Amino acid sequence: MVSAALAAVLAGCAAPSGSGTGPANEPSLLDRGREALSNVLGGLDSKPMLSRLKPGAYEPSNEAIGDEIDINDKRVSHGLVPLPAATAYANQVLDKLKAASGVTNVPGKVFVVANDQLDAGATPDGNIFVSLGYLRNLQNEDQLAALLAHELSHVLLHHHDSSWIGRKQKEMMSFFEDSALLKNTLENVVSGNNAPTKPYTSGQQETLDRMLLLVKLNDRALQPAWGRRQEAEADRLGVDLMIKVGYSVADGTLPWLDKVAEWDAQQAKLRAELAAQRQASMEALASQGRIDSSAKMALDGAMKDVLEELARSHDDGSKRLEEINVYLDKVHADSTVARRATVTPYTQFMQQRDVKATVDGYREAFVARNQIVDRKFAQALPTLRRLTGGGVISSHALPNYLLFEAQRGGGSGVGNEQVLRRSLAAPEPTWEPFDSAAAYYGGRNQKAAVAEIGRNALSRFSNAPSAYPRLVSLYMRYGMKDEAATVFVECRRKQAQMRLACEKALKK
Ligand SMILES: [Zn+2]
Repeated sequence: MVSAALAAVLAGCAAPSGSGTGPANEPSLLDRGREALSNVLGGLDSKPMLSRLKPGAYEPSNEAIGDEIDINDKRVSHGLVPLPAATAYANQVLDKLKAASGVTNVPGKVFVVANDQLDAGATPDGNIFVSLGYLRNLQNEDQLAALLAHELSHVLLHHHDSSWIGRKQKEMMSFFEDSALLKNTLENVVSGNNAPTKPYTSGQQETLDRMLLLVKLNDRALQPAWGRRQEAEADRLGVDLMIKVGYSVADGTLPWLDKVAEWDAQQAKLRAELAAQRQASMEALASQGRIDSSAKMALDGAMKDVLEELARSHDDGSKRLEEINVYLDKVHADSTVARRATVTPYTQFMQQRDVKATVDGYREAFVARNQIVDRKFAQALPTLRRLTGGGVISSHALPNYLLFEAQRGGGSGVGNEQVLRRSLAAPEPTWEPFDSAAAYYGGRNQKAAVAEIGRNALSRFSNAPSAYPRLVSLYMRYGMKDEAATVFVECRRKQAQMRLACEKALKK
C-alpha cells in the first residue's frame, strides 16, 4: 500500500517540471522519507552518485577470482540456464548502462540461473546472475535495466573490495553451503534413508515435509550480504545510470523495488513460519530416534544461523523505495526523466519461442522437483518425460537429472543410465548430475567409479570454491573417508572461504 502511494508521489516529482510536492494529500510521505534518509544515510550527501565515479579504466576488484572460475562457481552452486536470447538481450541493456557510467573496460556479463525466486547478485568479477523467476516477473525493459543498474552499481562502486563485505560474503557462502547440507540431512530423514525406530504420525511427517520445503525455498540466495549503506549507494547510482541512458525510473526502478518489497515481506512470513515449526520438527526427529541430541543441536544451530543471516541480508524494499524517492527529489528534480517504459522489446523478447518455452519448461521442472522432494515420484514422472522427450530444454541438465531421480525414487531403473548420460552431457553442466551418477554407482558399491566421478566433477568446474564442500559430502555419503579427507585438505589449503563448509561436510 505504502509503496503504491509513494510511486504515485514519485510520478509527480520525477516529471521534468517536477515541483517535488506530489499530490496535495501525500506530502507527509515525502517528509517521512526525508526523515528516514537523514536517519539512515547521514553520511551520504545530495550529490549525484555518478559524480563519485572515477572516469577511465575500471580497476579490477581484489576479490575477483577470474571469469572462468567465477562462472563455474555459479554452475555448481546454482545451475545456469542456457538461454542465449535472454543473455544477449540483457547484455545489450547492461552495455548501455556501462557506457553511461563513463568508466571503461568494466568487466562482466549477465547470466541466467535456474531459480524460481526473485534473486540476483553481482560478483567481484563483475558478472551479474539473474534468476529465471526475475525474468518471468519483470514487465518491461526498464525494470530489467533497473535491476541490472543496481547490480552493476555494486561493481562500479567496488563494494566487494571492502573487507567487511568480503568477510560477510565468505561467511554467507558458508552459511548457504550449510543450508544445502542441512537440506541433504533433512532429505535423508524424510526419505527414510535413516531407518526410523517407529513410523511418523501424519502430523510429524507433514511438519518435516514443510520444513524441508521452506529450507529449500530459502537456500542458495545469490545476493551477498551487503550493508544498508552499500544498498542505498547502489540504488542511487542505479537511478543515475537509468536517467542518463533514458530509461524510465517511474516505470522501471519503482515497480522493480515494489516487487522486491513484496518479495521481502513474503520471505519474512515464510521465515516466521519456519521458525515456529523448527522446534516441533526437531522434537519429532529426536523422539523418533532418527537423530541423537548432538545432531539435534547441530541442526538447530545451523537452522538458526541460516534464518538470522537471511533476516539480515534482505534489505527492506519499502524503505529503499522511500529513500530513492527522496534522492530523486533532491538530485534529479531538474533532470530530464523518461516518462514511459520501453515496453515493446521486452515483450517481444519474452514471447520469442525458445525463451518462452525455456521459462515455462523450467517452471514445470521446479514443480516436479518439489514433487520429488515430497516423494511423489509418480506425479513428477509424466512432466519430466515430456520435458526430456523433445523441445528446447530436452537436453538440459535439470529435467534430465530430475527424471533420473524420479525413476530411481519410484523404483524403476529402466533406461536410467541413458538419462544419466544425457544429464552429464548437458550444454550447461550443473553439479547435481554428478551427485546422481555417484548415487548410481555408489548404489552398486562401485567405489572406484564414484571416485572417478568426483575427480571429473572437480576438474569439470575448474576447481571452483563451491565444488569442494559438495565433493567432500559426495565421498562421505559412500563412506569414502580417504577421498573425502584428501579433498578436505585441498579445500583448507586453497579455498579459505569454504573451510567451514568443507569441515561440516567431513563431519557428516
Ligand atoms: Zn544490492
